[in-house]
Amino acid sequence: MASGEPLFRRIAIIGLGLIGGSLASAVRLNGLASEVVGADRNQEDLILAQSLGIIDTVAKSTAEAVQGADLVVLAVPVQATRQVLEEVHPCLAADATLTDVGSTKAGFVKDIHAVFGGFLPNIIPGHPIAGSEKSGIRATNPDLFRNHKVILTPPDIVDDSHLARLKLLWEACGASVLTMSVEYHDEVLAATSHLPHLIAFSLVDTLAGEDENMDIFRYAAGGFRDFTRIAASDPVMWHDIFLSNRDAVLRVIDHFTRDLDQLRTAIADQDSATLLRVFTRAKAAREHFSKMLSGQAYVTNNSERQVTFRLRPGGEVVGDIRVPGDKSISHRSIMLGALADGVTEVKGFLEGEDSLATLQAFRDMGVVIEGPDNGFVRIHGVGVQGLQAPRGPIYLGNSGTGMRLFAGLLAAQPFDSELSGDASLSVRPMNRVADPLRSMGAVIETAEGGRPPLKIRGSQSTKLTGIHYDMPVASAQVKSCLLLAGLYADGTTSVTEPAPTRDHTERMLAGFGYKVDREGPTASLTGGARLTANAIDVPADISSAAFFIVAASIAPGSDLLLRHVGMNPTRVGVINILQQMGADIQILEEREVGGEPVADLRVRHAELRGIEIPEEQVPLAIDEFPALFIAAVCATGRTVLTGAGELRVKESDRIQVMADGLATLGVTTTVTEDGIVIEGGQTIGGGTVNSHSDHRIAMSFTMAALRATGEIEIQDCANVATSFPGFVELARQTGIRIAAEDSAAGNGQE
Ligand code: NAP
Repeated sequence: MASGEPLFRRIAIIGLGLIGGSLASAVRLNGLASEVVGADRNQEDLILAQSLGIIDTVAKSTAEAVQGADLVVLAVPVQATRQVLEEVHPCLAADATLTDVGSTKAGFVKDIHAVFGGFLPNIIPGHPIAGSEKSGIRATNPDLFRNHKVILTPPDIVDDSHLARLKLLWEACGASVLTMSVEYHDEVLAATSHLPHLIAFSLVDTLAGEDENMDIFRYAAGGFRDFTRIAASDPVMWHDIFLSNRDAVLRVIDHFTRDLDQLRTAIADQDSATLLRVFTRAKAAREHFSKMLSGQAYVTNNSERQVTFRLRPGGEVVGDIRVPGDKSISHRSIMLGALADGVTEVKGFLEGEDSLATLQAFRDMGVVIEGPDNGFVRIHGVGVQGLQAPRGPIYLGNSGTGMRLFAGLLAAQPFDSELSGDASLSVRPMNRVADPLRSMGAVIETAEGGRPPLKIRGSQSTKLTGIHYDMPVASAQVKSCLLLAGLYADGTTSVTEPAPTRDHTERMLAGFGYKVDREGPTASLTGGARLTANAIDVPADISSAAFFIVAASIAPGSDLLLRHVGMNPTRVGVINILQQMGADIQILEEREVGGEPVADLRVRHAELRGIEIPEEQVPLAIDEFPALFIAAVCATGRTVLTGAGELRVKESDRIQVMADGLATLGVTTTVTEDGIVIEGGQTIGGGTVNSHSDHRIAMSFTMAALRATGEIEIQDCANVATSFPGFVELARQTGIRIAAEDSAAGNGQE
């Protein structure tokens, strides 16, 4: 704004206290108006404001200030609004913008109607969500609005040019501007600002009344100080706010009173389950809120970050490591733990956003879940019949597995529920599960085209009926969904798969003591039995381990121990294939955890040979091929992959993206319709590879650097942190020469 015309000619600010004074000084400091004129009932304050450079001109009255102004801002207490509007009305120019800063909006709208006889297109109610316990002109701060939000509640008939100019003004003062309806504003503020102030005032008053000398405050710690800070706010202003936002505040007080009463009863009855349930859910919500505020909510938008890996060539891989827990098993450990009788303790839980969404969903259905705390979670199971109706829709973020598994579980509950997800989950079809569930008797509504949200009707009286289902397409999610519904169904539910799919659900059900039969391609169970709590040490994810297995195999001098790796037979293709290529992988300490086979793996460098990859191994290694391609380049002889068409429709066309990346490093390959041919023994040069935000591609090229002759830069690696938290640190710890650069893409603003 420093050059050219200022945004406004003359801004009149009526009420020069904390908010009015701060706005006036921000406007002057940023050159947003040719003249800032102030009016206030206190003339001394006005003269002080002028001498402090907060305003240009002192007006003797509201009317004098408004004359000739093209923006009028009311910054008086909300109870004074009507009287000030009456003074503004006769002098307001037809093309001037009128706004306010009051903390409640319905009252302002009512006053406008009373004084102006209706709303006008140039009147825009506003509210900066910024303030302080101090008031008056002496508390003025030109940076008060910087990095804060300003809510505008424009009427439907608003004139867009007035709205745009007002937005620009607030943005130039450092604020970000949101618009919403008057009603929504008052509801939200009643809950997030007015109620907490009321509780703080009331609590301090109660305690002060208990003890005349206020001696007890001597013993109060920092928590009390933090919690009651807002009780030092201006009593007159808050008195005004409560009277003006009466209805919305009463609603939220009633809600809170009911919940407080519930806690009172729980304490009186020594009902520890209710106390733990409320406190753990609140703690999780508070942590989520803190992460949101610091921009790292677990539903982060990785597309806004730019992470680049830089790898120096060479090195060897040594050490004793454990990679993060398996996602599928983390998910299911929470689900079955919640449905079991007794307390299930889970170690090695993968704190990724999908499994955290599952965890929160069970909390919403009344299950007490402690943690996660460094991968440790304690679930107080409620039994198969113990889930409670959630208060609102269950939000599953981006988790397709979550939505399909929950659909089966919730279709069988006595209560109604709704499953929703983020924008990308909301376009994925759910009929693959909704159709067979309907044939079991479930009542499920989807959005158009079978898409989420799923609205599931509960039934107190009728049960689902077991079915036999021949899956048209092999899918572990569909199979798991039907088996979970089958826990509640009359009779037997059986699912036949056209090709082998992951069997984590069946194994974990067995681990929780639920009988699951397996005959050839058919898994079946009979409804009505119970699950017994279990202790689960989530196996390390073999898909994550695969990068390190390849790394140790290709880098001379390597000797790496990988602890507690999941060895589910539907997932071990990468080990089978590497062993056929001559890899030195020792499988040690084989054992079973929650129905899943687990082992420690010792991997040492070996001279690998190219092979024709047996097609029956392909589905068992489908996620690991990008890493296996790197192994093939480092082998002697030719490696041929066929029957892997599915790889071309994963997060990226993994075959093509790998081939392109290898080409930039000087390695030639031949891409075929359903696979690739790689001539081993080629030199891997340096260069820049684009991972196309596919985490597995990024991690595979990280391993390639061990045998490269030059530096490798890998772009677009932000997603690695989601599937493999701590990847860079762990890679560095084993000897891989990696550095990660992380920069937020935007302009750094909130
Ligand atoms: P403040 O510091 O007390 O300032 C209000 C100013 O308006 C005072 O100088 C007051 O004069 C003057 N005033 C009162 N009645 C008047 C009238 N009839 N004509 C002219 N001037 C009059 O209050 P504030 O904190 O700036 O709050 C102003 C508005 O901002 C309120 O509507 C409040 O809801 C809203 N708000 C406040 C905060 C916050 O944290 N403080 C945050 C967001 C929004 P006297 O000193 O003589 O009373």
